[in-house]
Amino acid sequence: MGDQKINLPERLDLIAVGAHPDDVEIACGGTLAKLARKGYRIGIIDLTDGEPTPNSPSPEVRLREADQAARVLGVHKRIQLDLPNRRLFDCFEHRVALAKEFRRYRPQLVIGFGEKTPMASPDHWQAMQITDAAVFYSRLTKWDEYFPGLPVHSIQRQLYYRLAVEPDTLAGNPYHQIVDISDTIETKIESILCYKTQFEHKPNIVTRVRAAATVTGAAASVTAGESFAAAKPFAVDNLMLTLALEPLSD
Ligand SMILES: [Zn+2]
Repeated sequence: MGDQKINLPERLDLIAVGAHPDDVEIACGGTLAKLARKGYRIGIIDLTDGEPTPNSPSPEVRLREADQAARVLGVHKRIQLDLPNRRLFDCFEHRVALAKEFRRYRPQLVIGFGEKTPMASPDHWQAMQITDAAVFYSRLTKWDEYFPGLPVHSIQRQLYYRLAVEPDTLAGNPYHQIVDISDTIETKIESILCYKTQFEHKPNIVTRVRAAATVTGAAASVTAGESFAAAKPFAVDNLMLTLALEPLSD
């Protein structure tokens, strides 16, 4: 079984993981759209189909909305895992299911949930734990019985996002990064509005998302921002480049 080889798809630079279709758009849609425009290969993994919800006639309709939102953002691949919505739990099988996708697409960076979402779906917190574990499982050797034909893959960086409909509560994190999404905030909103079943009856989503992006961006003196916390500190080679500073030229 260990010799079985699978034809692997082209690698992705970055995979963002959500519990439900629309989580990733709300959390970091502006950042994904921006990186896609810069030529990075971006993937989204939704752990569940997010259904049922009150105004969606079927999972197929929600899936079509998710595909449309992915096209708006310009991401290359969107995968929906068949894990159970509303009763998503961090367990061995769910960790392996996600780690298999990491081994298949071999991303450099994984972004996922970083916080509880009080009074909203508990699936989000479970998704964070599943993602943490899957990042680790992706690089474990001598486990072919669970990952037949899939290579071991070490993910270089992991970031946490927050659902950007609330004030920026990661502010106290010492590894806090803000991405300037001034030029993609409208794309982000357009992607969220693809989810008619989720937001047509809640038009204030636009106001909330825009307000959260404004507050987050203001902390770094830009018009709109999305914030991330690093799962652990990372060392940089070129500090100037990391600070978005090009060499002076005369
Ligand atoms: Zn959600």
